[in-house]
Amino acid sequence: MAEKRDITVIGGGVTGLATAWALLRDGHNVTLTERHRDVGQEASFANGGQLSYRYVRPLADAGVPQDAISWLFRSNSPVSLRLRADPHQWRWMLAFFRACNAATNHKNSNILLDLALRSQAGLSEWRADGLKDFLWRRPGKLVVYRSKKNFLKARGGVTDPERERVLSPSECADVEPAFASLSKQIAGGIFSPEDEVADCYRFCESLLDSMSRHSLFRRIHGNASLSTGEGGQCLMRIDGRIHDTDLVVLAAGISSRQLVRPLGFDLPLYGLKGYSLTHQPRIDTMPDVSVTDYDNRVVYARLGDTLRIAAMVDIGTRNMRPDPRRIASLRSLAAAALPEAGPYDAAVPWAGMRPATPDGVPVIARTRWHNLLLNVGQGALGFTLSVGSALKVCDLVAGARPAVHDKV
Ligand SMILES: Cc1cc2nc3c(=O)[nH]c(=O)nc-3n(C[C@H](O)[C@H](O)[C@H](O)COP(=O)(O)OP(=O)(O)OC[C@H]3O[C@@H](n4cnc5c(N)ncnc54)[C@H](O)[C@@H]3O)c2cc1C
Repeated sequence: MAEKRDITVIGGGVTGLATAWALLRDGHNVTLTERHRDVGQEASFANGGQLSYRYVRPLADAGVPQDAISWLFRSNSPVSLRLRADPHQWRWMLAFFRACNAATNHKNSNILLDLALRSQAGLSEWRADGLKDFLWRRPGKLVVYRSKKNFLKARGGVTDPERERVLSPSECADVEPAFASLSKQIAGGIFSPEDEVADCYRFCESLLDSMSRHSLFRRIHGNASLSTGEGGQCLMRIDGRIHDTDLVVLAAGISSRQLVRPLGFDLPLYGLKGYSLTHQPRIDTMPDVSVTDYDNRVVYARLGDTLRIAAMVDIGTRNMRPDPRRIASLRSLAAAALPEAGPYDAAVPWAGMRPATPDGVPVIARTRWHNLLLNVGQGALGFTLSVGSALKVCDLVAGARPAVHDKV
């Protein structure tokens, strides 16, 4: 075990909570600071619920720039773009388009797959050690492709046919009968039987519950800030008061960029707004496996007796509230794909900001401040990658060489 240290984690979303729990399990004294009274109130609240360990391709891919042009003119578009006079937005988008090539996507998919599989193994261990129920299941995940081009591309990317089964439209209907009416509209699907689903907010609660019973854990409700200290250290404050700690782990989601600004560096993070609907349809109308309708970029997951539907990427909006037009689009996409599982008018809307890097790879790194580590930028896969990212932070604390990013 590494030398025991006093470590403070900033951010009580799924990334920060998983990090705090992993560090506690390693024997450190851990303080978690969160600005909301409750944990999991931002991006981790009502996300898609998919623990998508096998399908981890970053959004930046060859062909996406062409698709993006058609998306801009489509109602119900998976992506909406509002250009701003904001150099950070332009820099981020430029870096995103640079990452849109097959070689970069392949390299980054492999990095994410390693992290995701480590997450899956880690979560299994944590569950076995007695985490409170968070509606976890392993029903597998089916990605259905409407476009033949996208299906053939995905089929070509399958490296482990046992764990990613290529299915015809009728086989997709056998795997998930709730979507059978779609089979005439799809080219095929890929089924990953080992993928999981769970409720991210309940997972946050369950981690907090386990930590709260631990003698080495302390939780502080307050707003954290960082500034330059002496001797290559950064100084941490909570609600303006200096907070003494050996090491700070920054896991504050999209706000992490603002937090490091006083230190004089920038993080390549941009908020990609997304939406979800949650409702309780009749149990026999709900899909059992989790489903991604790839061309519409809509995901469906049954969480206990509720159905969670999540989708869409809005770039350039700062408003955190659900946009009624996008919510109406999501209701109509869901009603067309899964008509029996309505009524969708009653579904509760939600919006959150994915803390995204342009190439989709999170920043889990040391910094030039000896006492500051980063665990940010998990983007569209933050729930899936939370445990693996946390374990990587433990490696860094223990002095291992980082595999994801070196110093920032
Ligand atoms: C619509 C949608 C669907 C998604 N679906 C999936 C999915 O199916 N599977 C998946 O794996 N991922 C999914 N994601 C992505 C996932 O939800 C995010 O990547 C993840 O929640 C990010 O977690 P986080 O802890 O990094 O950030 P957050 O959850 O945003 O947590 C950051 C925390 O830091 C706190 N904080 C910020 N600043 C300060 C400060 N100064 N002081 C103290 N506290 C501070 C905030 O209050 C917040 O609680 C989805 C996201 C969206 C929006």
